[in-house]
Amino acid sequence: MSNDSLPVTSTFSLPKPVEVAAAAAGAKFERNTEEVLLFKVDRTQAAYFRRYHLIPIEQIGTLESQATSDVQRIPDYFGFISPKQGYFEVAIEHARRGRIIIPPILSTLKCGLSATCRHSDDNPIPTVSFPQAKRGDEERPGRRDQDIIPIHLTDDTGGTCIEISTVSPLGVLFALPNSRGRIDAHLAEDIALSISIKIDFGSEMSDQLLLDKGIEKANSLLYELNVRNDQPFRMIGTALYERESRKQNRQRLPEVRFPTTSLPHEVAELFSSAETARDNPVIAFLSFYQVLEYYFPYAIRKDSIRKVRREIVDPWFSISDDDSIMRILSTVENSVNAPESTQIATLLTHSVRETTLIDFFSKDEAATHFSRSGPISGVEWINTKNANRSIAAQVAERIYKIRNRIVHAKDDPKYSDVRVLLPNSREAYALQPDIDLVRLLAIEVVTDSQVERRG
Ligand SMILES: [Zn+2]
Repeated sequence: MSNDSLPVTSTFSLPKPVEVAAAAAGAKFERNTEEVLLFKVDRTQAAYFRRYHLIPIEQIGTLESQATSDVQRIPDYFGFISPKQGYFEVAIEHARRGRIIIPPILSTLKCGLSATCRHSDDNPIPTVSFPQAKRGDEERPGRRDQDIIPIHLTDDTGGTCIEISTVSPLGVLFALPNSRGRIDAHLAEDIALSISIKIDFGSEMSDQLLLDKGIEKANSLLYELNVRNDQPFRMIGTALYERESRKQNRQRLPEVRFPTTSLPHEVAELFSSAETARDNPVIAFLSFYQVLEYYFPYAIRKDSIRKVRREIVDPWFSISDDDSIMRILSTVENSVNAPESTQIATLLTHSVRETTLIDFFSKDEAATHFSRSGPISGVEWINTKNANRSIAAQVAERIYKIRNRIVHAKDDPKYSDVRVLLPNSREAYALQPDIDLVRLLAIEVVTDSQVERRG
């Protein structure tokens, strides 16, 4: 059996509502075989490993009845709402183990007691299921995700039902693409099915109410699955896949040398764990920031010694003059009690070369990111031509504010003007240039500490 044995049905025409729903999902119908409908994702810039959505052709009827005119994508997540049907569906993944591994985990869970509901009889919430894959004449065993038993939960009144199961036919279009488009005899091997949370509220709702209630219920279920069942799942966010792919702009030499950099173990570990946190930009940023923090005392010490020395060499300094002594005391006191924002500015002013910063900010890709219209809100933008404020001071302010946005939740009154920067947000995935910046600062500071060590 060759690939040619699966003819394209030329007479097939896709129902209009499905075409409209596909457009809302950012997908376009490409063609069909005897077994599947093949849709291609429109969004060429998104970082998808697969670029096709496959739906079994035998489920076209279900697909059509799901595709009401008001179907909408859920903002920032892979899922959709259907206000007319009071229906909400969002794809999930396991927080530790990704999305493909979910079925065996789900099979270890079972439904608690629930009221009977309208889905109990012959009217289940639709899920997608693919025909058994065949290779030649030989039946191949069904894929592991074929036989998921839905976890179906109903509230006391039987009004609202929540289900965890394989995506619905329409849910396929709104989930991560499930196929690399290799429609051949090994069809099912190519398919990565998504699992979703489906919530059927039972009656028509307004868009916003359905979105709010849906997200709220899904969060509540996910929290309890984590806490009660020790299974941390999460809704799959779109930000990770839509982040701009950005080349890291780093210097690179081919030859390895006998190392001469001496650094404390803590710094080495923070630096390397920042590099490991590639998919967690917020952690990467914080780890490099912690490298800087490690050197705060060193910078403060150096700075206060210089200031005290400056007082002492003053021709008017006198050991018997109380004012002279008081000036030294207050210098030391100011240094020791300096707030973190001042400490970091002191460190950067002393340890980072201005030319390094000017070089960094003069690169094209840095120019927009660090400008007033850059993607990170509520932080200092960088103006290398500002005559009133050194670049080091601007940079210190910026990275300190980002750090605060990551560390402080909004309920802290001390940081009431600070909006928390969530780890899976679009802003988090736009952080890379700032991560490159703190990495550069960390390297500068480590290098500067080498000079001190040798001097
Ligand atoms: Zn039900």
